[in-house]
Amino acid sequence: MSTYNQPLGGNDMPRFGGPATMMRLPAQDTAEGLDACFVGIPMDIGTSNRSGTRLGPRQIRDESRMLRPYNMATGAAPFDCLQVADIGDVPINTFDLKKSVQIIEQHYTDLLSHGTIPLTLGGDHTLTWPILRAVKDRHGPVALIHVDAHSDTNDHMFGETVAHGCPFRRAHEDGCLVNDKVFQIGLRGTGYSPDDFNWGRDKGWSVIPAEYCWHKSLAPLMQDIREKIGNTPVYLTFDIDSLDPAFAPGTGTVEMGGLSTWQALEIVRGCAGLNLVGGDLVEVSPPYDPSGNTAMIGATLLYEMLCALPGVTRNER
Ligand code: MN
Ligand code: MN
Repeated sequence: MSTYNQPLGGNDMPRFGGPATMMRLPAQDTAEGLDACFVGIPMDIGTSNRSGTRLGPRQIRDESRMLRPYNMATGAAPFDCLQVADIGDVPINTFDLKKSVQIIEQHYTDLLSHGTIPLTLGGDHTLTWPILRAVKDRHGPVALIHVDAHSDTNDHMFGETVAHGCPFRRAHEDGCLVNDKVFQIGLRGTGYSPDDFNWGRDKGWSVIPAEYCWHKSLAPLMQDIREKIGNTPVYLTFDIDSLDPAFAPGTGTVEMGGLSTWQALEIVRGCAGLNLVGGDLVEVSPPYDPSGNTAMIGATLLYEMLCALPGVTRNER
């Protein structure tokens, strides 16, 4: 018998039954004893357009029911070597965004004190800023791989400095990021000014627009990113709207011309070998996801993040 937690198998309980946790893993209240944990942030009060991401964590967990423990493509066997559980949701204050980011930062400071690697089920993208503040306190400034249709570097939205279009501007101001190791992948669409995407470039960030990614494998890009990041601790933040709406329509701020699901897999799998200290999958909005496919893709990418963590063993074919 393995000493590690295992997802409840489909031969022990029908896929449509059992606990509604991520991958039907055991639930526990804290991150104590966990090498990695899944944690939800049911929040949409930072969104600027369509809401609904407050229901994201619950729907991602539901759609994770089909995920089996072994990664057939990479050979990764995360449940053979990591202790993983679902530690539930962060109790945000849904009436107060500014209080919510304080709650999130405190919650992640606590869970990081256990030495765990958090993989977060969002929730709108505002949440990455307080996570990065907690990560900085634990690990120092980090490299960042940010996959998104949008740069999320607005100074403010509707006069507010805390919003889902501002997290990486705030994280930069707080000294959370290593500027020459920040990579924004998948940016596209219309802007408020011709140089909307240059704010990060001016700080030394690498911006890889969606058009650069069209019609090609992203494996070489990820190899280049791995070489540039080296051993620096790195955080992966994945906004589901980076994907083309043909694949992932269930989100709040949709842009056409995005990444494919196989490119998303190349990006996350391409993080294997990096010193990942955390990751998130944000902006799944179940009210706009009647098939559940957007949440299913989100759940799968979170599993792939788990497979890419340091120390995960791989079975050779
Ligand atoms: Mn975003
Ligand atoms: Mn976005």
